[in-house]
Amino acid sequence: MSIEEVQPRIYRISSTLGVRRFAQWLVAGDDRLLLVDTGVHGTAGNVIAPALAELGRQLADVDEVLISHADVDHYGGNAELRRLAPKARLRASAHDRDWLERWEVISRERYGWYRGQGLDYDESTWNWLRDAAGPDTTLDEAIEAGETLDLGAIELEVLGLPGHSPGHLGVWHPPSGTAIVIDAVLERGLYTTAGDLVGPPPYSSVESYRGTIGRLRDLAPERLGTSHYPPIEGRGEVTTFLDASERFVDDLDQCLRSELGPRPQRLEHFWRVADHALGPFAEMAVELARSVGAHLDLAVETGLAVRTEHQGLTTWRTAG
Ligand SMILES: [Zn+2]
Repeated sequence: MSIEEVQPRIYRISSTLGVRRFAQWLVAGDDRLLLVDTGVHGTAGNVIAPALAELGRQLADVDEVLISHADVDHYGGNAELRRLAPKARLRASAHDRDWLERWEVISRERYGWYRGQGLDYDESTWNWLRDAAGPDTTLDEAIEAGETLDLGAIELEVLGLPGHSPGHLGVWHPPSGTAIVIDAVLERGLYTTAGDLVGPPPYSSVESYRGTIGRLRDLAPERLGTSHYPPIEGRGEVTTFLDASERFVDDLDQCLRSELGPRPQRLEHFWRVADHALGPFAEMAVELARSVGAHLDLAVETGLAVRTEHQGLTTWRTAG
């Protein structure tokens, strides 16, 4: 665990999650402390509390918690946080709220989405997800894009960065050009700490994900604060990262367009082709099928493909 002041009052709390990098963010105003994300079940006590202690602070001092999005590695610490930071106001986007408040809902609609397409995680992944999610925890309120967080001597704007999840949020500090974007843009996927590509970048809407990349280009940040990447410092590095994120979307789109043909194929077929072309991905590989499904949905919307049902599963083929 380490805590680093990236800009005055803006801190990155770094650790690892299995083979991957992992970070939560802290913004310390004169009046209030904001924590962005609570990690997995266990992160609050084992990582965030000792990080705060290095600043002479404690979890009980945290006033505001913003959960970036509904994935277990970003909200799983909520139950523990409730216990250790009783005065903290816990908020996330209304669009992700049902998922991150109730395991039953996220396990069915988000992590179990693949089952409707004949795909699934293996049992050990399910067990890991369940443990990481921690006990169900109710949020205090929703928070939406455009809201200002005035922490005293530092003010942030809440950014709406949908695509990876429907309600993914970030925060923007214009004076320093710092955009804390967490998983809103995911380059060509997730890497081990040694730099090997292991996980795909999942998104559930191609248009929203592209829109988020464009939104961040328009902001032209000096740095991006993520959860799973090394520091992205300077306009050049930010542009390189956003370019790579967009190129992945272009590449996946191209791959699927050339694979679509007159013969109807299931999601599994397109996913395997994409994994071969853009991976292979060793960790959470099935997550690529979410992005593949999003591209196929868009192909149907734009008249390129048609969707049909075959033996209870969706298939796609070229239109006409
Ligand atoms: Zn994540």
